[in-house]
Amino acid sequence: MNNSLQGKIVAITGASSGIGEATARLLARSGAFVVLGARRMDRLSAIVADIEREGGKALALELDVQRKEQVQAFVDRTVTQFGRLDVFVNNAGVMLLAPLADRKIDQWERMIDVNIKGVLYGIAAALPVMQKQGSGHVINVSSVAGHKVGPGFTVYCGTKFAVRAISEGFRQEAGPAIRSTIISPGAVTTELPTHISDGPAKDAVNGMYAAAAISADAIANAIHYAISQTPDVDVNEIIIRPTAQE
Ligand code: NDP
Repeated sequence: MNNSLQGKIVAITGASSGIGEATARLLARSGAFVVLGARRMDRLSAIVADIEREGGKALALELDVQRKEQVQAFVDRTVTQFGRLDVFVNNAGVMLLAPLADRKIDQWERMIDVNIKGVLYGIAAALPVMQKQGSGHVINVSSVAGHKVGPGFTVYCGTKFAVRAISEGFRQEAGPAIRSTIISPGAVTTELPTHISDGPAKDAVNGMYAAAAISADAIANAIHYAISQTPDVDVNEIIIRPTAQE
């Protein structure tokens, strides 16, 4: 076991699958106490049971990041249970791709609510705790889609550009004792595309992922790297994509 994160308290949103799950498992193996939040409690409980079986320490909390009181309760419960919050990973996200002309306005709103407002609720809950402690680290999961726009990706890209803007503003405002990292993955094999309802958009993304996608463990490794630096080192952004991705 790599113990470089021994005793760090790390709360992760969207930890029931994909990148959040891989990150929780890796950080727990490295000695961190992980708090996993998502809506699917059955999935979270199974992951926590695995972590505990391997000797790690983890807690599952039901969380819908669209509900600001639930995000606040997620942070409050973490602090009550463990006494502090060292790292908050704003990872929960949805990618509901479709052309603008299809006017899937409900899906636009859901992406804005989860991917942008959810991240802001996380910052609102975590920042006061970290300021009081005089230390902390917020990690926001953006995307390569936060760097470039493609047809069908417009609203999703808008949310991920926003995550990068919010993260940079957070870095400047939070002060030198609080670190800020943007994680920008390319194509990663997870459940993310399974929620797309537009047939052609889903086919296009599945084709893209079939051509080149990396595992969620690669993104977990990047998050581990950012967290495990000495406190004076702030890794501001890591872009990780398959070698074959444009
Ligand atoms: P998954 O679909 O596997 O995971 C998404 C996670 O977000 C799940 O745990 C899900 O849990 C959670 N989630 C969704 N909605 C909510 C909500 N309202 N409240 C709380 N949790 C929620 O996909 P990924 O692991 O790929 O996605 C993680 C992040 O990585 C996202 O922000 C995504 O945009 C980003 N990303 C992914 C890429 C990829 O290619 N996979 C590329 C670039 C960025 P539950 O449903 O149980 O609530």
